[in-house]
Amino acid sequence: MTQIAFLGLGNMGGPMAANLVKAGHTVAGYDLVPAAREAAQGEGVRIAESAVAALAGAEAVITMLPAGRHVLGLLDEILPQVPAGALVIDCSTIDVASARAAHAKAAERGLASLDAPVSGGVGGARAGTLTFMAGGSPEAFARAEPLLARMGRKVVHCGEAGAGQAAKICNNMILGISMIGVAEAFVLAEKLGLSHQALFDVASTSSGQCWSLTSYCPVPGPVPASPANNDYRPGFAAALMLKDLRLSQEAAQAAGAATPLGAHAEALYAAFEAAGQGGTDFSGIIRYLREMHRE
Ligand code: NAD
Repeated sequence: MTQIAFLGLGNMGGPMAANLVKAGHTVAGYDLVPAAREAAQGEGVRIAESAVAALAGAEAVITMLPAGRHVLGLLDEILPQVPAGALVIDCSTIDVASARAAHAKAAERGLASLDAPVSGGVGGARAGTLTFMAGGSPEAFARAEPLLARMGRKVVHCGEAGAGQAAKICNNMILGISMIGVAEAFVLAEKLGLSHQALFDVASTSSGQCWSLTSYCPVPGPVPASPANNDYRPGFAAALMLKDLRLSQEAAQAAGAATPLGAHAEALYAAFEAAGQGGTDFSGIIRYLREMHRE
């Protein structure tokens, strides 16, 4: 049993903290939003008066926050009070540079740390079936793995500081590009008089096969559980996909990598969001593509 401080009890953090409680750990939590605190309390998380108050006796500190600035800001607030020897784990999806800065801040205090973003969405957080991609020393990873395994099904050590975030944004860049590719194919099929099911039956067993097609099909019918069957309610909101694509393009810019399709995917999702569709599932981009006209 480990004493854990869990900071950020939102859509993802709340159910993740609840799974640690179910596994028998003692979890003290804090969130800025009262409703998030109350929901976590209902799941057995002891709610502290503040982020710093949640740290008392903690052997591990887990953060699950919106973006890099929140993580770095909260670390500045809490690090002086984190008990010596505690492991600091950030599960938020943030930019690689901020993730490395977070590791450096923890190291200044002599604390081991890990960036450990997740894939799998709110459903995966609730079911405890997330995939964790971790960056940090082998020692920090070995200490974190048993805790992460209580919140996820797969835990991958990707390399040193920042490697988890790097894996996350590379994966989601593939996802954004492949969703647009699949959606474009269905739009073209419609214009050619080919049925959705026929394209699905062929492509899902041919070289066009990919997750965006077979697990998250952007048209209703072929994959009954995909958000297309539920009026494109998320799921994974287009605004979050845009966030991850922006992170991938910032990283590509900083690293000098050419990612022309990643850049184009970012531009399309930015236009989709500007059209008021940020809260729509990211597979809903097919509606936007259908409305576009060939020049
Ligand atoms: P969310 O907005 O629901 O939760 C974030 C929480 O952090 C909020 O409740 C907010 O009040 C809290 N917070 C912010 N600053 C804080 C502070 N200083 N102290 C305490 N609490 C603070 O977001 P989410 O959907 O839970 O996502 C969290 C992270 O996980 C994001 O980085 C997101 O990109 C990533 N992620 C989300 C999903 C998803 O499907 N929602 C999937 C994978 C990864």
